[in-house]
Amino acid sequence: MENKQHNQDLFAFLQAAISPFHAVAVARRRLTEAGFTELREENSWHITPGERYVVTRRGQALIAFSVGADPAASGLRFLACHADSPALKLKPRPEIVVSLTNPPLRQLGVEVYGGALISAWFDRALSLAGRLHLLDADGSAHETLVDFREPFLIIPSLAIHFHREAGGGQAVNPQKHLPLIFSQGKAAWQDCLLTQARRERPTATEILAADLFVYDPQPPSFLGINQEFIAAARLDNLLSCHAALAALTEEAETPANFFLICASHEEVGSVSAGGAQGGFAEDVLRRIIPDHEARSRCLARSFLLSMDNAHASHPNYPESGDSAHPVAMNGGVVIKTNAKERYATDSRGAAICQMLAREAGVATQFFVMRSDLPCGSTVGPPLAAKFGLVAADVGAPTLAMHAVREMTGADDPASLTRLARRFARSSLPLINMEE
Ligand code: ZN
Repeated sequence: MENKQHNQDLFAFLQAAISPFHAVAVARRRLTEAGFTELREENSWHITPGERYVVTRRGQALIAFSVGADPAASGLRFLACHADSPALKLKPRPEIVVSLTNPPLRQLGVEVYGGALISAWFDRALSLAGRLHLLDADGSAHETLVDFREPFLIIPSLAIHFHREAGGGQAVNPQKHLPLIFSQGKAAWQDCLLTQARRERPTATEILAADLFVYDPQPPSFLGINQEFIAAARLDNLLSCHAALAALTEEAETPANFFLICASHEEVGSVSAGGAQGGFAEDVLRRIIPDHEARSRCLARSFLLSMDNAHASHPNYPESGDSAHPVAMNGGVVIKTNAKERYATDSRGAAICQMLAREAGVATQFFVMRSDLPCGSTVGPPLAAKFGLVAADVGAPTLAMHAVREMTGADDPASLTRLARRFARSSLPLINMEE
């Protein structure tokens, strides 16, 4: 299959980006290795035209940009995606000791992060990763990423014999049914976690706080007799993050006047310090184009390509989609529209997107939700609204979105990347938009 090398690199990215914190760390590393200069929000910035920069916020969101000598005259090419994925998140004091049996079972309680398809998390060998805040013996606090790597967690289903009347289907109560078994031993969870933390920081004596996500360590795989599909965890939305990073780092250097945001917390509504409804993009933009007039002129010339996964048509549930808008895996980049502005695409955005796709040699298809079902959303609408941008919401066709393992076509990651790469090298404005 063509694009195999691109997919192998995507697989490596997915396996490293096992939590939102890891995703941002890996993205930052890829960008700095490609020559981007790292900025910190708390320092003063001296932006050189044409230089490429990367800045992160709270370890959960990332912006990469480069501005030319006169962004007011050239506009900015905005790329947007999100670095978080639906998952199970550990509670602050997660341990539950169930004395029903002797020895007791030790479990970890979780909250559902985002719209996870919960039933898909049962009966899998799961692991844990995220961020820890550690206290050293000298009283100093430190932050580190942690990854247990090996699977050690599981949520066993209730055997069908106990609920035959429901045909094996059972409503999941997240409070009662999702605690994960982690041990039958004597060691308390906080001690197990501290042991793991000491692999990252041997001097740690105490864990102050943690943001830990359950994840499926099963590697991504090609599926289909001709390897025409991909199945992997966190395709939503790391596939798009990877496409954006590839578009900005592969081949010859990307021309200036681009602005990539990998936002946080999209799966829970984007209202956070690094979310698309937060001020991260605006704060960075004000620093790189401080003059209000120049910034407004720049934004009026700009375009937003917002990338997030799109629903492919499901063969077993043909009634789930609009029959006039079938979406095929390996069928090209999906342009998403919604009359209620759940997607930011309007006819200008869709027209621009199709022109870019043609230039990139990529097919396009349209997704629109059934008129009798509510539509999901993404980072495109809040960013387009905040900055007044002409925009398109696009993505790779995906089945089982928000399941622990999602599916897309093996050609789709490279198609989205080609579109993003073409866009990153285009001249603005992309269409004659006279009122
Ligand atoms: Zn998404």
